[in-house]
Amino acid sequence: MPANASVFILGLVVGTGLLVIGVLLGFFLGRRAGAASQVVDRQQFLGFLQNLSHWTSEFAGDVSKYQTQLTSISQRVQGGNEAPREEILQLLTQIMQANQQLQNRLDTAEERLESQTHQIADYLTEARTDGLTGLTNRRAFDQTLDELYVQWQSKSQAFTLGLVDIDHFKKINDTYGHPAGDTVLKKVSETMRNEFRDAVCVARYGGEEFAILCMMPLEEAADCVDRLRSAISRTEFRHEDTIIPVTLSGGVARIEGDDKIGKLVRRSDEALYAAKLGGRNRIYLHDGSICRLVTKVPPATVRDLRSEAVPNMAQQDSTVRLQERLKRIVEEESRRV
Ligand code: GH3
Ligand code: MG
Ligand code: MG
Repeated sequence: MPANASVFILGLVVGTGLLVIGVLLGFFLGRRAGAASQVVDRQQFLGFLQNLSHWTSEFAGDVSKYQTQLTSISQRVQGGNEAPREEILQLLTQIMQANQQLQNRLDTAEERLESQTHQIADYLTEARTDGLTGLTNRRAFDQTLDELYVQWQSKSQAFTLGLVDIDHFKKINDTYGHPAGDTVLKKVSETMRNEFRDAVCVARYGGEEFAILCMMPLEEAADCVDRLRSAISRTEFRHEDTIIPVTLSGGVARIEGDDKIGKLVRRSDEALYAAKLGGRNRIYLHDGSICRLVTKVPPATVRDLRSEAVPNMAQQDSTVRLQERLKRIVEEESRRV
């Protein structure tokens, strides 16, 4: 075999090796870049990078060793000296063996990276999920809301926010016990997931309150939330031998004009507040000016909210709690704004 051809083949082998390493590392780095941006646990991600860096430098060491030998042979051939056939064969064998070892190490590296990727993916899912209900948690909800808001500002893609809250949940806990309350929360969440498959986000907003983000127009979204309300009121929530009556109230609003996020949340919350005050087990929407009843309820059960100025004692107690909650939300949202 002429020396030039040998050097060419060697170059080809090393080049292919380099290409394989490059493609694999590029593939791993590229695949993980998206996840990396969200990694909350810096330690875990740091470990991942350190491993990657370790393997990369090992590969680089092997490749540069053979490159040095190849360069030496190539220089001798260019200088008119025939490189000894045995030397070339020996180097070729070494490179083949090294390639095999490299392949084995890459296989191991891929397995380890794969398992680390799963760990990181699991971690990310956990970090975004509410432990009890399996719904998106409040932190991830806030992130999604921020993202939708950016889209609204840049592309005018409007979205709708629904807030729903289980009625008299404290009483459910007090009457049937906290575990029964937890079971109710889980079942309500399951129904929400089923009813809002196409929503951008269905989240546990806090305690017994949930939030839905969707791209539907206001009235359509409000009808969907009302269907959820209706489904919940028809669902049998069983605890031991008793059926727990569960209803929920909700408020829906849509982003508009030069709204800040806080203003949208306030409108949804005002509509929810109107639903509570209006008798519960009903949905209101906020159309930007006023709260309007969405649920079709018998006229006898529709309360004129203006006549609620002096609620009775039981209502007063609940109203005070609602007002406190509303105040907390307003403060929280104002801080965020
Ligand atoms: P309203 O109809 O006005 O919403 O009244 P409510 O009783 O539902 O509202 P309130 O805010 O007074 O009570 C909410 C209760 O939810 C109080 C709290 O102990 C309970 N709660 C919050 N988180 C959980 C939970 O994870 N599990 C259980 N079982 N209860 C919870
Ligand atoms: Mg409640
Ligand atoms: Mg509540």
